[in-house]
Order: sequence, then structure tokens, then C-alpha cells
Amino acid sequence: MTWRATVLTLFPEMFPGPLGLSLAGRALEAGLWSCRTEDLRQHGLGRHRAVDDTPFGGGAGMVIRPDVADAAIKAADVPADVPVVYLTPRGRPLTQQTVRRYAQGPGVMLLCGRFEGVDERVLQARGVEEVSIGDYVLSGGETAALVLLDACVRLLPGVMGSEESGVEESFSEGLLEYPHYTRPAMWEGRAVPEILLSGNHAAIAAWRRGQAEETTRERRPDLWSAWLARKETNRAVAV
Ligand code: SAM
Repeated sequence: MTWRATVLTLFPEMFPGPLGLSLAGRALEAGLWSCRTEDLRQHGLGRHRAVDDTPFGGGAGMVIRPDVADAAIKAADVPADVPVVYLTPRGRPLTQQTVRRYAQGPGVMLLCGRFEGVDERVLQARGVEEVSIGDYVLSGGETAALVLLDACVRLLPGVMGSEESGVEESFSEGLLEYPHYTRPAMWEGRAVPEILLSGNHAAIAAWRRGQAEETTRERRPDLWSAWLARKETNRAVAV
């Protein structure tokens, strides 16, 4: 079954963009996923097809009108079980868990904001999920939509080969991944850690686990605390 991405945007020419290449591009060609766009401008009002207006209450910038966004949502005509997602810095942070949920479903409809964003009422009225790709502000939702789609598409069945397996990567277990090394074994006076040349698979797995834990503890105290809490809960359940 084809996983369907529908993108509501003022810049349809940005899709599939980089996702037409490499892994996602090959999957697109193979029909494992599809990428449709709905041009918000086509639903704009008047001779100039206006999609935005000034914010009630004053302030800088413009806001995408609810009637325009809604007309685009309706025209896209996706099945009711497809989640509608608005990319916004105000959203819940995108996590691998959320990506997995989207990838396991029939597809996603992504609403890309511009200007100051989208009128709140259409988000509420249409049960839109709000998702952020990080604590910084982009000029538009299109690059965020590409990030979300990339993360989902690589998880679709048949997209990744065994050489790109997602089983052991960052976040798969709640930890960041261990560091990687390849040839040459010595580079600029820096040697590959001895253990990786030992052929002792159990020792290598233990070393990698230690490295993953250490990196997560140092760089991501939030993930580390969650990991420790989960370990504690599992231990309590096992006792
Ligand atoms: N006024 C908004 C705010 O302060 O939250 C920022 C608007 S931004 C200039 C324009 C659009 O870019 C947003 O409507 C959203 O669709 C997108 N965008 C910006 N940063 C984003 C982020 N971190 N994650 C997801 N989408 C983002």
C-alpha cells in the first residue's frame, strides 16, 4: 500500500524537492509513497488570491486566513484517518515515536505556515496536530515538512535495505547512537578503538552500549533521565 503525503503550501514547487533523490526518491519512484501538494494560493480570495490578513489585536506580520486554509484542507480530500499536521514552533516536539506513529498509518496531510502562522480557529475546528521540528524559527513550514516526511519515509516497509537498518540507530532504544569508525584503522595519528578490531562481538556490543549511554548522559540530560526512569520501572516490574 502506498503511504500518502499531502502538503498544503504556498510553494508547491518545493516538493518533493530533495526527497525526490536518493533513498526517498527511489521509494517514490517505486510507489512506496506518494507526494501530492495543494496550493494554498488557489484557494485565496479576490483578484489577488489573498491568503492572509492582518492580525486581530494588532502586531506585526500577517496571518493565514482560516477560510483559505480550510478550503485547501477540504480540496485535498484525504481520508478521515489521515492525521492533519500543522508545522509550527508552538507544536509538540517531533520525536522518533511520533514519526513511527505517522509512518505506521496511511499517510499525513501537512499544513505549511508562512508569515506569522495560521488562524487558530481552523487548527481547532479540524483537529489539527501541531508539531515543531525544534526550538528555532524557520521562515516557512515547507522545510519542516520535508524533515518530517524524510523521517517517516525511511521507516516505511521496503524503503531501507539491511545496510541502512533503523534497528540500532539513535532514539531506537531511547539513547543516542554509539560512534562509528571505518577504514583506515589509523588516520592522522588517531587509532580506531582496539575493541572494534577484536572480533569479540559481545565485548563490542557492551562497549557500544557504554558509549551510547555516556554520549546520551553528556549531551541529552532529558533523554538520559527518561532512560534511567524507564530502566527503574522495568526493574520494578521484573522483581
Ligand atoms: N510567529 C511564529 C512563532 O513565533 O511561533 C513563527 C512563524 S514562522 C516565521 C512561519 C512558519 O514557519 C510557521 O507558521 C511554521 O509553519 C513554520 N515554522 C517555523 N519554525 C518552525 C519550527 N521550528 N517547526 C515547525 N515549523 C516551523
